Amino acid sequence: MSRSDHKESEDSPGNKARSSTDYALGKTYDPATEEANWREFWRQHDTYHFDPHDRSRKMYSIDTPPPYPSGDFHVGNALNWCYIDFVARYKRMKGFNVHFPQGWDCHGLPTEVRVEQTFKVRKNDLPPEKFVEMCRELTAEYIAKMKKSMTLLGISSDWALEYKTMDPSYYKLTQLSFLQLYNSGHLYRGEHPVNWCPRDETAIAEAEVVYQERKGTLYYMRFGTSNEGIEIASTRPELLAACVGIAVHPKDDKYKALVGKTITVPIFGQKARVISDDEVDPRYGTGAVMICTFGDKTDVRWQKKYHLPVIKALSESGRLSVEDSRFKGLKAEEARKKIVAELQDTGLITKTETTQQNIGTCWRCQTPVEIISRPQWFMKTRDLTQKVVEWAGKLDWVPPFAKQRLVDWAESLDWDWVISRQRIFATPIPVWYCAKCEAIILPDEENLPVDPRKDNPPKDACPKCGSRELQGEKDVLDTWMDSSITAAIHAGWPSKTDLFEQLFPANLQPNGLDIVRTWDYYLLVRSLALFGRAPYKTLLINGMVKGTDGRMMHKSYGNYVPADDAISKVGADAFRQWAASGGSTGYDIPFRWNELEYGKKFLTKLWNITRFILANTTETESLKKPAKLPLIDRWLLGSLQALTRDVSEAFETFQFNTAIEAIRNFTWHALADDYLEAVKHRLQPGRSPADLKATQYCLKEALMTICKILAPICPHMSEAIYHQFSSGTTKSVHQESWPEPDKTLDDASIRDGKLLLGLIAVARREKSSKGLSLGSNIKKIVITTGVEHLHLLKENEETILKTLKADSLDIERSPASSNHGKEPSLEFKVEIQA
Ligand SMILES: [Zn+2]
Ligand SMILES: [Zn+2]
Repeated sequence: MSRSDHKESEDSPGNKARSSTDYALGKTYDPATEEANWREFWRQHDTYHFDPHDRSRKMYSIDTPPPYPSGDFHVGNALNWCYIDFVARYKRMKGFNVHFPQGWDCHGLPTEVRVEQTFKVRKNDLPPEKFVEMCRELTAEYIAKMKKSMTLLGISSDWALEYKTMDPSYYKLTQLSFLQLYNSGHLYRGEHPVNWCPRDETAIAEAEVVYQERKGTLYYMRFGTSNEGIEIASTRPELLAACVGIAVHPKDDKYKALVGKTITVPIFGQKARVISDDEVDPRYGTGAVMICTFGDKTDVRWQKKYHLPVIKALSESGRLSVEDSRFKGLKAEEARKKIVAELQDTGLITKTETTQQNIGTCWRCQTPVEIISRPQWFMKTRDLTQKVVEWAGKLDWVPPFAKQRLVDWAESLDWDWVISRQRIFATPIPVWYCAKCEAIILPDEENLPVDPRKDNPPKDACPKCGSRELQGEKDVLDTWMDSSITAAIHAGWPSKTDLFEQLFPANLQPNGLDIVRTWDYYLLVRSLALFGRAPYKTLLINGMVKGTDGRMMHKSYGNYVPADDAISKVGADAFRQWAASGGSTGYDIPFRWNELEYGKKFLTKLWNITRFILANTTETESLKKPAKLPLIDRWLLGSLQALTRDVSEAFETFQFNTAIEAIRNFTWHALADDYLEAVKHRLQPGRSPADLKATQYCLKEALMTICKILAPICPHMSEAIYHQFSSGTTKSVHQESWPEPDKTLDDASIRDGKLLLGLIAVARREKSSKGLSLGSNIKKIVITTGVEHLHLLKENEETILKTLKADSLDIERSPASSNHGKEPSLEFKVEIQA
């Protein structure tokens, strides 16, 4: 609802345009009303519209990370979006045609888990179509909620560019990229061990494994016979079922005689060969370890290296799948208990001890991850590591240290990226297989999107063997396969018009430090494979938000603050100031309510300054810069130029905290405390019109500059101020040009103005030390100072007298000052005579 709707009600229902009186600032600053009005103004005027045909301006493209529609938008997410929006708004004012889409990464485990929780169902108990429908509905609901939060925050994305990865128009392109990568040899299908979440019953990528410290028990177990046996310590006796070998260190003398022999595994009875390998830590447990298929990555390596058999002892739901009826179907933990009991009964456990474990868990449900082997699709990401590292070096990283995270991650990867998932709500893998000869049958590009889970195969018979028994792939794609090509899709890929060249690679890739190894990595590796270049130029990385208790913000810690709560308390502009001022870009920042309150206080101050200036400015349109200005005015304008230069530089280098601090300091101190106090007398009735005009000019100039350079961070307040001076316009301050500072600054005026203000400050302190209020009149001020200041004082006698409310000024010369040749310093004595 616009402000005119509020005010004009039934009188003029057809007239939705705001009249100039609508813009008037109320007596008190009320962020809720004010911000709602300006949001409506932007919506009505489509202020942030991206015009793909406009070639008069250079384009600036932002590849906004599409969030999971979880319904939650907490202050940490909001920080990320504030950073993006600061840049978008700044670049628009710098004259760029800013491409700022917002999308939603709909598919994925989180949504399936939420649907299961919300509707109390298990995905495999429902027909897949029904389950997908539930996912889509919940996703749409969550998108609406998050979109509302982003809008409340004043995010200036162009909603006409909104996309959802679950839409067929989008996942068609994900499938196309799959076909292209397959045809260029970057994909393969094979049976390899992968990380597996037994709760969610799907493969997960290395980036989705979160390591947690947990306490466990180390069991010392006897293997073999009393003549030829070995003692092995393990935290996972249930994996005895999958034990295919025993490893010892080559230099471990205790076991030298056993290497090459086979030893019987307790309970399950299979034979395990003893091998020696440098990777064994002889100090862990007994120095001998079991090799199971698969307990961890080392097992995977050893199984391959020593050509050991594979025993699939764990099912996809994490249950023991052995023939032994005592253990068959038990969950890993239950099996462990039962096996331990049995070993204890037969005296095969010699000792137990508590141990600290670093367990890989599923990032979504925290279930310990298993390693399970089954056919999967992979992207040959390790082949691209060298290229990834090379490209990482060519990009701009803000802050620079974030680059190393990506490089370290890429270099640490042991396995290729498993891109298939055993889920339902996801992009289907566009593949059919011949049941007889296992040939892979792909659809034609023009027939995408396809769903091999229900669609007919593209051919009637296998092109290799002629069999008519063709089966659709049941697995689906990892959600990162959807979301790691957004930049290209925004740019219009697969059609590569000149718009593609303008928008791709994206100028900006903004995201949190926590997803450098996922998001930034997948985007880069994928883009190198598909397009031979990086999909972005500058990476803007934000830190994480810590709760008021100093811990990372997390729902389970109870320190979680939804962005809407914060905004409803202090307003979006105050919130955005916190986001800007919290810390250097890339570093973690604490969430502090008093910082938000301070932001609101600053805006109230600015509101009051604006009201004061408006009340004292008769002409709002045509104020020209007077030819001659007194020092205090030249100081203000010079300092304003310095401020503009500093703030521009801060935005260019993404240092938002520097920008907001400089603006707040200037507004609060230079403009309000110093300048306004020193020129109030020039606004009194009876002053010369020239004096009045000069003052009004300077005040308006300062306010308009502040309003423009503050616009990226406080868009609502800036818009409100802007419309005080351009009444009735439909133009937004966000469509204004960024103020460009003068090439050379008026350094002399800045320096002399500082001296003058310093003197006034000293005199005021002197006045109050005599028990006089600042507003009380005094007879005389006596200033004793060196010769270098005499001229300055004479010239500004009136400013000094009026600001200090004194009747007369005596200037006395002090003995020659000692700092000859140096920058003139503030050396004077002030005497007040009441
Ligand atoms: Zn899980
Ligand atoms: Zn065939």
